[in-house]
Amino acid sequence: MTDTQSATERPTRTERADVVVVGAGPGGSATAAYLADHGVDVILLEKSSFPRDKICGDGLTPRATKELISLGVDTTGWQRTKGLRIKGGGHTLQLDWPQTETFPDYGMVRTRMQLDEELARHAERRGALLVERTSVTGPLRDTSGRVTGVSAKRLDDRGRPTGELVDYRAPVVIASDGVSSRLATAVGREKREEYGGERSEARSGMAHVVFLIGRHRVAVNPFRPSPDGRPQGAVGLAPRPAAS
Ligand SMILES: Cc1cc2nc3c(=O)[nH]c(=O)nc-3n(C[C@H](O)[C@H](O)[C@H](O)COP(=O)(O)OP(=O)(O)OC[C@H]3O[C@@H](n4cnc5c(N)ncnc54)[C@H](O)[C@@H]3O)c2cc1C
Repeated sequence: MTDTQSATERPTRTERADVVVVGAGPGGSATAAYLADHGVDVILLEKSSFPRDKICGDGLTPRATKELISLGVDTTGWQRTKGLRIKGGGHTLQLDWPQTETFPDYGMVRTRMQLDEELARHAERRGALLVERTSVTGPLRDTSGRVTGVSAKRLDDRGRPTGELVDYRAPVVIASDGVSSRLATAVGREKREEYGGERSEARSGMAHVVFLIGRHRVAVNPFRPSPDGRPQGAVGLAPRPAAS
């Protein structure tokens, strides 16, 4: 039990991993897939269960398409697009995707019902442990305040708490729980309105740490300044040095 938990909140059990990723949307599933791909022991927690839908335009730009290809997702048969058509105020603009060497010259359309499950299953196939119907309720901290995991409640297939409370402990916790990220709020990160309120959090509770996990170095620097000098999260993976 941590100093933030009361006796009635004692976990039923505790699970451990190298990295806990909270939220199996595109961000969390992609992160978990990359980590697992590099041999990192990763648990991916998701409060809903797949398939589940999400409000979205379902459009994937060439940039997003490139990310999916890099990730190794099989997009055979997915609906392709050749550009954007924008209608409004009596005007129609048709913009073809640009021809560049950096990105494919097509985008795609995939419903979130399909896309999010495919990405989550992809992370699973890469070796991540996907745990659905598990709602993260807050960070766990040690006595120094450092984040050491998250507490979660298990839900039944109608989204109601089962009464089972689980602590997931890891030296690295990644909050990918969406734009409203309660986990980010709970660890004191403020929304960045200049990015539409988006927050991408890599929280270890320390300013700049490198973990040696298996054959890899996982570097976490939650406060790496962006070009405009503002803090931003960063997680990096690199081969473990031979001497270490
Ligand atoms: C109306 C609208 C239209 C959009 N259209 C497009 C579009 O056409 N193309 C495009 O590229 N983007 C679009 N977007 C943006 C896109 O939806 C987001 O960029 C994307 O969903 C962000 O992915 P994410 O993984 O960061 O978060 P999310 O997709 O929000 O995923 C977060 C995940 O975390 C889970 N979660 C949340 N809290 C907890 C918790 N406590 N415990 C466990 N799990 C939790 C959620 O269930 C969810 O699965 C649109 C957004 C909106 C609002």
